[in-house]
Amino acid sequence: MDILLIDQESEVLDLLENLIRFASPEGNGWSIQKTNKPEDAVQLALQNGFDLVVMDPRFSEKWGLPLIKTIREVRPRTTVIVLCNCGSDLCSLYCRDRYREFGVNHHVDKTKGLLGIPGMVRDCQRNAAVC
Ligand SMILES: [Zn+2]
Repeated sequence: MDILLIDQESEVLDLLENLIRFASPEGNGWSIQKTNKPEDAVQLALQNGFDLVVMDPRFSEKWGLPLIKTIREVRPRTTVIVLCNCGSDLCSLYCRDRYREFGVNHHVDKTKGLLGIPGMVRDCQRNAAVC
C-alpha cells in the first residue's frame, strides 16, 4: 500500500508515520512518504497513485481544501483521511458533514489524539484488497 502524509508540522508527520508503521502487517512493504511542503504535497498527491492520503488541509491556505477535491477527481480510488484541529464537541457532526461534501472518507480531530488512525489505515487496506 502506498501512503502519503501531509501536515505542516514535521512532529505530527513523524508520529503518524510511526503509528502507521506500527499498524502495518510485518513484511508487507507499505511505502510511506511524508511532506510538509505545499508544492511537494500537491505534486506528489496528484502524480502518484497513492492508496491512502492522510492530510491536514491547513498545510496550505491556497491548496488545502482544493487538493482534497482534486484528488477525488483525478484519483477516485485514493482513500482520504483528513486531520482537523477544531477541538469542538461538534467536530464529529459538523466537520464530518463538511468534509463528506469534499469526498473525504474519514476525519480525525487532532486535539483528541491520533490513535484512531492505525485502525482506519487497516480498514483502508482491507478495502483495497477487496477491490
Ligand atoms: Zn473538526
